Amino acid sequence: MSTPTSKVTVKPRRLILEMPEYHPPLAGRDNALRLDFNENTLAPSPVVMDRLKQIPAERLTVYPEREPVERQVAAHLGLPSNQLLLTNGVDEAIHLVCCAFLEPEDEAIIAPPSFFMYDVSISMMTRHLVKVQADETLQFPFERFLAAINERTKLIVIVSPNNPTGATVGRSEILAIANAAPHAVVLVDEAYFHFHGETVLNDLATTPNLIVARTFSKAYGLANLRIGMLAGSPELIGYLHKVSSPYNVNGVALDCLTAAIEDDAYITWYAEQIRIGRERMMGGLDELGVHYFPSAANFVLMKIGPLHRELVAAMRKRGILLRDRSTDPGCDGYVRITIGIGEHVTRGLEALKASLDEIGWKSEF
Ligand code: PMP
Repeated sequence: MSTPTSKVTVKPRRLILEMPEYHPPLAGRDNALRLDFNENTLAPSPVVMDRLKQIPAERLTVYPEREPVERQVAAHLGLPSNQLLLTNGVDEAIHLVCCAFLEPEDEAIIAPPSFFMYDVSISMMTRHLVKVQADETLQFPFERFLAAINERTKLIVIVSPNNPTGATVGRSEILAIANAAPHAVVLVDEAYFHFHGETVLNDLATTPNLIVARTFSKAYGLANLRIGMLAGSPELIGYLHKVSSPYNVNGVALDCLTAAIEDDAYITWYAEQIRIGRERMMGGLDELGVHYFPSAANFVLMKIGPLHRELVAAMRKRGILLRDRSTDPGCDGYVRITIGIGEHVTRGLEALKASLDEIGWKSEF
């Protein structure tokens, strides 16, 4: 291999030099019970696995065609197909929205603690990221959020249920925000919709500045295939089409997605397992004396305190991964646990009890 002899002097845009980076802790996740990334802990629908096995070799030689699948997904959601764009996960969806709508002088508003990719994608386009921090209840700060909107606001992000808190924002609050800012895009991230059930998808027709993001990574169990979607007015989706590559979602993912949406019964079943498991997890945490934030998603944020690192390490020793959220704003000492199917909740709770004992953790109650 040749070694470069002269130094690179080319620099990226100034905002790229300044923007934060996101490095999720992906290493060493094999062969563990992964209660760290809010994934489906079982598998996608068996219908998806059958379709995957039937994909002929020559299919991999073809550029993917997204549009017929967009039509199917739109029909499945009761939307016209010009109101939907499939994306390479919601991660790409966020990136596309920021690319399409944010000028360097525009403001964008988010309510931390929330999903870090918003910081990343917004900071790529503008320095004016307005953060309306939740108070210690970690509920959505509606009044302060509304008060932060001004004529420079161009993008408003509402994540419901939110990650990592599990807190929700009511439909009437979302619509009040959207109506207060007709000059801004209101992006509602419904990545965890299936575990909650409330949506503003049906409000798109009457709220033209609304965009809804959904993922197939969570309830559908397709995180590895990278598929998400954006829904909005034909005009807004049209702009997003312009900034999207025509091949952003690969053909294997598209084939699997058509199979996945045929099996509604699987999603209903999986979401129900999570609701039951979430109640059981919260009950178990009550018994252990661990404070947590009531969640509408497939995870629970626990308040562990100074021993947060020790807990994550003790759980890892037992083959179970948790996500330490201590560096998130307002989350010092907090650890997040994903809710999976019943047996994974049982293993999680048993290991939590043993690990808390081992590290000498004492309840504050
Ligand atoms: N939004 C939220 C709130 C999330 O928690 C996540 C994943 N952790 C995403 C979006 C990204 O999802 P995807 O896998 O579709 O990129």
